[in-house]
Amino acid sequence: MPKLINADYFEADDESRWQAVLDRDHTADGHFYYSVKSTGVYCRPSCPTRAAKRENVRFHLNREEAELAGFRPCKRCKPGQPSLREQHIKKVTEICRLLETAECEPSLSELAAIAGLSPFYFHRIFRVITGLTPKAYATAQRNHRVRKQLTKNKSVTTAIYDAGYNSSSRFYEKSPQLLGMTPSDYRSGGPDSRIRFALGECSLGSILAAASDIGICAIALGDDPDLLARELQDRFPQAEFIGGDSEFEQWIAKVIGFVEAPAIGLDLPLDMRGTAFQQRVWQALRQIPAGEKVSYTDIAQRIGAPKAVRAVAGACAANTLAVAIPCHRVVRTDGNLSGYRWGVERKAKLLLREQQS
Ligand SMILES: [Zn+2]
Repeated sequence: MPKLINADYFEADDESRWQAVLDRDHTADGHFYYSVKSTGVYCRPSCPTRAAKRENVRFHLNREEAELAGFRPCKRCKPGQPSLREQHIKKVTEICRLLETAECEPSLSELAAIAGLSPFYFHRIFRVITGLTPKAYATAQRNHRVRKQLTKNKSVTTAIYDAGYNSSSRFYEKSPQLLGMTPSDYRSGGPDSRIRFALGECSLGSILAAASDIGICAIALGDDPDLLARELQDRFPQAEFIGGDSEFEQWIAKVIGFVEAPAIGLDLPLDMRGTAFQQRVWQALRQIPAGEKVSYTDIAQRIGAPKAVRAVAGACAANTLAVAIPCHRVVRTDGNLSGYRWGVERKAKLLLREQQS
């Protein structure tokens, strides 16, 4: 796992930069460079050469600055070329594009060969960068394509073939996990899908939790419980709603306990409905430990789409599982809290609480 960092961290001071150099922290690569007076070279923070003496080291925001000051690029960490991590992100991004359009799902060894890496190593870096295994990513892509095709009013069979499933029996076999209902149900808006829900009160106000047969599909916070229930109905217009039964009361108790103290974790299954891109963002958000803050830029880099900062912000805003997908831990690079679906005051409260615990 790459160390989670806030982009603000490296803008902060030279001491943090020096610490990153001592740690050979590759996540700091690209944020700054350092030069060594005694050798006349400049390096990336992660350079594997023996640490220089602190008094000989100066920091530079970019390569141009280091070269203008008369330093040469180091021959070991090659600061003029893309870092290993940047190369990995580029490769993983290419593979993601491929999986998004592939007719048949390539095998792990085929994907690894395209990336020019061993299957084991490729699997590892794919997971580190996207938060998903290549297999899970391909499944999410296909799932997304099936949903898209089904809602275009095509016949279920055509949609299945269009999405790259070559045998419909295989799709039916898998679709309950993918869609949470049978394909015919999904196209008609899911008349048979049952959603259990319960409303409660917690320190952040009213809380609604709802679950499909797959897992928790909504956690919402607000001032008005009726409004929360209405929003849930709007999201699932065809579903049958079942007020909390006794088993579900225990679920909601767990959810409230978790929202009050996110550090304890939530071991309930989640039903995360979104596009493959949103799923990637949400998986990345789930890797941020309680008490940490990251920027939208960090998340974009982590999922291998460094330019998709706005799309990342959009995916955070589309999150329907408050706290379980901790979009409240994402702030702007300038430290500004930015928006929060359930109210920016609740976001501030959650962050404060996590920092204190
Ligand atoms: Zn170096």
